[in-house]
Amino acid sequence: MIGSRSFLGRIVQFGILAALSAVACAQRTTAPTPADPQIAAALKQVSASRIQQTIEKLVSFQTRSTISAQDPASIAAGHGIGAAREWIESEFESYSRDCGGCLEVKTDSFIQQPAERIPQPTEITNVYAVLKGTDPENAKRIVLVTGHYDSRNSDTLNTTDPAPGANDDGSGTAVSLECARVLSKLKFPATIIFLTVAGEEQGLYGSRHFAQMAKSEGRDIEAVLNNDIVGGDRNPQQDTSVVRVFSEGVPLAATDADLRMIRNLGGENDSSSRELARYIAETGQAYDLAVKPMLVFRLDRYLRGGDHSAFNREGYAAVRFTEFREDFHHQHQNVRTENGVEYGDLARFVNFDYIANVARLNAATLASLASAPAPPASVHLLTKELQNDSTLTWAPSPGGLATSYEVVWRATTSPEWEHAQSAGNATSITLDKSKDNVIFAVRAVDNHGHRSLALTPLPER
Ligand SMILES: [Zn+2]
Repeated sequence: MIGSRSFLGRIVQFGILAALSAVACAQRTTAPTPADPQIAAALKQVSASRIQQTIEKLVSFQTRSTISAQDPASIAAGHGIGAAREWIESEFESYSRDCGGCLEVKTDSFIQQPAERIPQPTEITNVYAVLKGTDPENAKRIVLVTGHYDSRNSDTLNTTDPAPGANDDGSGTAVSLECARVLSKLKFPATIIFLTVAGEEQGLYGSRHFAQMAKSEGRDIEAVLNNDIVGGDRNPQQDTSVVRVFSEGVPLAATDADLRMIRNLGGENDSSSRELARYIAETGQAYDLAVKPMLVFRLDRYLRGGDHSAFNREGYAAVRFTEFREDFHHQHQNVRTENGVEYGDLARFVNFDYIANVARLNAATLASLASAPAPPASVHLLTKELQNDSTLTWAPSPGGLATSYEVVWRATTSPEWEHAQSAGNATSITLDKSKDNVIFAVRAVDNHGHRSLALTPLPER
């Protein structure tokens, strides 16, 4: 993945150890990724009414401002962010009871010192549940879904007036919870983390703390799905058939050496986050979901930000899901009516069926990745000789799940992979396609057809 942490370090003299080599001349278009019947059945369990209950409960805490009350009396009274935190933890615990204790429910708490939107030292707590992978090697691989449970009204420092946050980001919190409820009934070789963070509206504090902790612990997070404002606000211009998926192009974590390599290879459209976005697009097709991902090739909405960028900064692949059309009367607003216009982020403005469909797209992506092999450990494109053919070599997918490999490619101007060619169980392939004209990647496939994320090659001289 171009721009990943050890980008230059991976340009090594890579001996051609591969005993097997496939030679392919015929071009063929990609066979659709098959739907997994077990995953398809799980998606049917995603419930719009459960999501409605979750969001109405979150709204009932009146405000979930990160700097609102979290003392025992307020928690007992069901008011403020402390009460919201306790309730989310109890929800995860109840899902775990229903699956024989399959979820490990955890909190990540820290004291944030005063900053622009933090007037005094404030405890911030992320709440999450871990569905540990069943395969010891693959359990180290993590896919993660997140939403922020904190909310705000017109004033980021206001802690007393209502800040219902039904859409922003009760909707994303509900996606994390519903994915946990449904997917905890299945088993996967890799680990899934269902995360809800606080501190987003004050400056991404919760996600930054979690991402930095994961990085410092060396966690192998393959994918982060951040859902923020996925409520499908009921405005007349809303398009409930799509959800936007934002992915960074040039990685926030790119070093100067990475940037030079990106320029040399034409790699500005192949960050690991963008390969994740392409994976989501294929997953949406495989499961023929009612809400289709609409890929947007930028980090976030124009000049705006969110929690996925905190993971991008640590070098992780992370994307943001957001409804097609936001209504700015219904976010970051005090609840009021002015000149006949209703302001405020109220539950009645969101569309629970739409959120359920977004949750299905998230659950399908999480389950597919957690079922799939790891990507090949490295991929190289041979460049010693000037040739019109292209020879790719790769190191096997670690973890033992892969039974074959697939090369994918697309025109440099195409947004998604257009062609695929199986290499069988070989670890190299020669294609009669010029590396000048297309972009290649390799992915690992298991015997059920689960695909790994695609990994683009580095040059090998
Ligand atoms: Zn938000």
